[in-house]
Amino acid sequence: MTLPAGLPVVDHHCHLSPSGEGVAAARRFRAAGGTHLFLATQTYGPSPPRSLAEYAHQFETTEALARQVRTEVGVVVYPVIAPYPVDLVRQTAELGPDAALGLHLGALDLAGRWVRERRAVALGEVGRAHFPVSEEVRGAIEAAFRHALEVARESDCPVVVHSDDLGPSGIQELGARGQEARLPPGRVIKHYARARFAPSDRGSVTPSYLARRELVREVRHDPAPWFLETDFLDDPARRGAVLDLATVPRRAAAIASAAPAEVELLYGPFVDSVERVYGFRPSVEPGGGG
Ligand SMILES: [Zn+2]
Repeated sequence: MTLPAGLPVVDHHCHLSPSGEGVAAARRFRAAGGTHLFLATQTYGPSPPRSLAEYAHQFETTEALARQVRTEVGVVVYPVIAPYPVDLVRQTAELGPDAALGLHLGALDLAGRWVRERRAVALGEVGRAHFPVSEEVRGAIEAAFRHALEVARESDCPVVVHSDDLGPSGIQELGARGQEARLPPGRVIKHYARARFAPSDRGSVTPSYLARRELVREVRHDPAPWFLETDFLDDPARRGAVLDLATVPRRAAAIASAAPAEVELLYGPFVDSVERVYGFRPSVEPGGGG
């Protein structure tokens, strides 16, 4: 059995780069059956932005890639933008702690404005460093995360959280942060989740699972919301280090051919979860993306 024509096939987190494969990778996603991509911004140059204008330029690069993929490939692309928490490591060293944090908060405000103008659908990646940092930088990263949650509430959007792997207590703690900031349940998304969150443990946090074969098999019956992602990096020098962009549609097709009765389950991550967390429902128009 092939995938039903009306089923959106959604990768919830990837990156594309003007100096990587870019549109060619999106074509591979499309050819495998993919229809919708959540495209997260990233540092495109050799080092993180040093000014608000450079952040604006970074977000515009993401937006331009999104537009190019939409027009040239017919895949729907939702931009996700924010200053990356780890940017603060280098910015603190180069600009000093106050200017670095000021820049970061300003970039979060800019990202929030883009969401309110519907140029982006979420703030991401925000959160924590995934490696040890100095006390000073950790404090700045915490302040930035607090601000990100406030901006998300004001902008009525989710946050896509970058962090270390989280166990049940880490998930609880993250969910509590979202509640303190008065974000609606589900709006804190732990991206790059590499192990299943038991539905009883996940509280108000939405997992975005790395689409490894075993993990997809483990989580496919779980109640929405949850997502599948590749975190594709579009870095030809690191090919094989991450999942390929065609992975999510391939996993969906594998389910369709091995267990046709389970295809219905895919509406969970691809449609119902997007609607519950983002407030809009992806759809496939006859004859193209929608
Ligand atoms: Zn990422």
